[in-house]
Amino acid sequence: MIKRSFFSLSQPRLAYDLLEPDLKEPESIPVPAILSVLLPEPIDNTKQALIKKGDAVKKGEKLKLYDDSTAYTTSPVAGTIKLFDSYSDDFGNIATFITIKADPTQVSEANTINLPPMDDIKLADQFLRKLPGAPPFEILANDEIKITTIVITGTDTDLLSTTNQFVSLKYMDEVKEGAKILKKLTQVPKFCITIPENLDTKVSFDTIEVLKISNTYPSTLPAMIMKDHLNTVMSAGQTPEDSGICFIRAEALVSLARTYKTKKAVFDKVLTIISKNGTRHRIRATIGTPLSKIFARFNININEQDRIIIGGPMRGVATYTPHHPVLADMDTVIIQDRDIIPQLSDYPCVNCGKCIRICPANIPVNMLVRYLEVDQYENAADKFDLESCIDCGLCAYVCTARIPLHQYIRLGKHELLTLRADA
Ligand code: SF4
Ligand code: SF4
Repeated sequence: MIKRSFFSLSQPRLAYDLLEPDLKEPESIPVPAILSVLLPEPIDNTKQALIKKGDAVKKGEKLKLYDDSTAYTTSPVAGTIKLFDSYSDDFGNIATFITIKADPTQVSEANTINLPPMDDIKLADQFLRKLPGAPPFEILANDEIKITTIVITGTDTDLLSTTNQFVSLKYMDEVKEGAKILKKLTQVPKFCITIPENLDTKVSFDTIEVLKISNTYPSTLPAMIMKDHLNTVMSAGQTPEDSGICFIRAEALVSLARTYKTKKAVFDKVLTIISKNGTRHRIRATIGTPLSKIFARFNININEQDRIIIGGPMRGVATYTPHHPVLADMDTVIIQDRDIIPQLSDYPCVNCGKCIRICPANIPVNMLVRYLEVDQYENAADKFDLESCIDCGLCAYVCTARIPLHQYIRLGKHELLTLRADA
């Protein structure tokens, strides 16, 4: 997969993994006894919460913390709230996790979704935001954002992952059906779908324009797709939505099609699990399932200092707990044995220039990181283009001194946003 060049002055060429030819149904993981869902809102002890320990919940029931909350999640099973507490992500953002004890006598009962009419994106955002694939309804329902193109991702944004390719080809008819529903909901005129250019399969997506994407990393990242296929260059600090383009996972469309067809919310997430020896397992698990249940199914033992990465090797984020729940936007989980984890260092930059040569956004990364190391976030943005970074992670991959460049950059962007919000 990874071909490092022999001559150090040329760039390493990283190729995406291609889908296996035999698209078997994913293996289903049984619904566990205890599940956890995340709610992107911190607990406010001065307010009376709408949920409490011991409350009965129905499958598909919308859960929010307070009367005036806009953030919500939905219960993937019928059962009882066992616990809700604060959760902090890797940048210290506080959210709430809700643990639900499933009631096995009710797990297959009809769920309580309020199916919005097919022409009301705001109502869809009120009830369907948490479908597997995490449809970006918050963006599509926002009157201040004018979306003119929806790009369905049938390609994966990181190496080793093949979940999006799998879903878009295995469930092609449901992707098309979901796109029709989304078109009615949003009235967006143009729909495209990204497919790997070297995929040896016939694809037909009716009126959806097919964008064939190079298999060289990082061609599948939104900024690259926009530049290479939609003639749109994202300016520093902008998002695709600022250019009228919205990206959506193929799986979100499959979930939408199934929800409208069955009139029930769906909670089955397709995931690719890559074990320590590189074996790939394609599974289907209920949102909220602890990863430890999936690891146990495949006899994957997590030892001290092994690393669990949510996402791929270039852009993924490590989690500290094997009990992290399956999320609506989780496509790939990699387990790395502690003995093969690449070592980082605190050596200084040796000015080899590799990071600059490889950066697709032409950022002088070696200079940028000097500012980030001393918390000079505004200067890093103004002088060295911090906000032009497309988060490909290539600079960290090639760094001679093994400086965790991408981690510095991610933290720098986060701190910059926080500084500006505070200001
Ligand atoms: S992660 Fe590194 S190589 Fe990639 S765009 Fe950002 S600075 Fe450039
Ligand atoms: S690749 Fe690493 S060592 Fe080389 S110039 Fe960039 S930061 Fe410095």
